[in-house]
Amino acid sequence: MTVPAPISPPAPAASEITAVERRHADRAQRALLLDLDGVLLDTRPVMQKAWRKVQEAHGVTRPFTDYERHLGREFGDIMQRLGVADINAVRRTYETESLAAAHLAHEFTGVVEVLHAFVAADWRLGVVTSKHVDRAAPLLAHLGCPFATVRTPAGAGRAKPAPDPILLALVDLGVDPAAAVYVGDMAVDQESAARAGVAYVHAGWGYGQPTSPVPEIVASPKGLLQLLCPAEPFVEGSLV
Ligand SMILES: [Mg+2]
Repeated sequence: MTVPAPISPPAPAASEITAVERRHADRAQRALLLDLDGVLLDTRPVMQKAWRKVQEAHGVTRPFTDYERHLGREFGDIMQRLGVADINAVRRTYETESLAAAHLAHEFTGVVEVLHAFVAADWRLGVVTSKHVDRAAPLLAHLGCPFATVRTPAGAGRAKPAPDPILLALVDLGVDPAAAVYVGDMAVDQESAARAGVAYVHAGWGYGQPTSPVPEIVASPKGLLQLLCPAEPFVEGSLV
């Protein structure tokens, strides 16, 4: 893939430039946007537990594998696709159980170290997820990474696979689509990135398979850093 080039704003006239402004203007404007479930955190145990509660409380017979097939989409979208009735009540049960089981989530090996390395290389970080903000926020807080924006279905626009949340995250960051990468693990992530005009990298450690055209696939967070920051000397250092 073509690694996005930094895009800097037009330079003001030399007489207007201060040292601080120069540093700001020269700063690389690249964005690394990431999905949450299956990319940052392994939340499958949380989802399985919450889905079991939905099955018990609402008599839903669909197995978890049916739910999992549609991951990446907004919860209500998945329920419609599964033919589940009384979506609002089911959503409340799922969210309550998810919050109670949040401790079962854990970060994928190397994710935190790699994200800090991206920040050190002047990338701006953002999260674009279909997980509701009430469930996403505590997980991201626990991760402790400097995300400059988090886009969830609670915000404006349509959910994935529409391009809206990716584009809105780029508006938040002031970064062009051509200077951004989205990392996901499901076909809807790939579709959303394509419709947003953003390069896509598939997280091979996640839950799903990419679709066509075959994207770049990395096997680990460290592989992501090596793909996008091959010249960074700290790649071979002690961080990852
Ligand atoms: Mg995912």
